Amino acid sequence: MNSGKWIVLLGAPGCGKGTQSELLVASDFSFKVICVGDILRSNLKTVVPQLGKPVGEIIGGGTLLPDDVIVYFVKDAMSKMDDVLNTNLIFDGFPRTIGQGEALVKMTKSLGHEISHVINFEIDDAILTKRVVGRSKCKSCDKIYNDYFNKPKVLGVCDICGCKEFVRRKDDNEEVLKNRLSEYYSKTKPLIEFYKNLGLLFSVNADAETATVYKDIIEILSK
Ligand SMILES: [Zn+2]
Repeated sequence: MNSGKWIVLLGAPGCGKGTQSELLVASDFSFKVICVGDILRSNLKTVVPQLGKPVGEIIGGGTLLPDDVIVYFVKDAMSKMDDVLNTNLIFDGFPRTIGQGEALVKMTKSLGHEISHVINFEIDDAILTKRVVGRSKCKSCDKIYNDYFNKPKVLGVCDICGCKEFVRRKDDNEEVLKNRLSEYYSKTKPLIEFYKNLGLLFSVNADAETATVYKDIIEILSK
């Protein structure tokens, strides 16, 4: 009983967590994703008792939600899932701080279950920067390219549809990435030590090809 694998993916922005998460959903493990961003977005009108204000108003005012409030909404969403204790779950974009990590331990315990694996995506900063800053997308067919790792066969022309216009996300620039990385290093990276101490940490080399990283993760989860 209670055989669901509940896993956390840890890693800097651009490390490939999102891609691996999609692959795990489609895998034999049939993971479901607990996306905190989505959960909070669906609770914008819910009033947070401790603060006497709805979620939307708190976030809109630029205040961060307290860790225990975030965990409260995650638990609420999980309790609405069918047979959650036997469901494989990925926590996506969460926990982001030690406080959230501690609250998550308490919450899973209160449900009579626990996190089984924390996958740490190890990646070199220079590669990360190239991945994020070099990213572009065909304006017509959405095919993803990268200036460093995955250029179109003919420069400036989409391989798939021949379109000559490419778009970049506004936040894919070095300045924004630097800020997101420093946020990650100061707040999220301490979680690596936290989960190591709990004996839950497994690392993968996220510099490797997508298929290799995926194979490594499946191996870890199969142990
Ligand atoms: Zn195209």
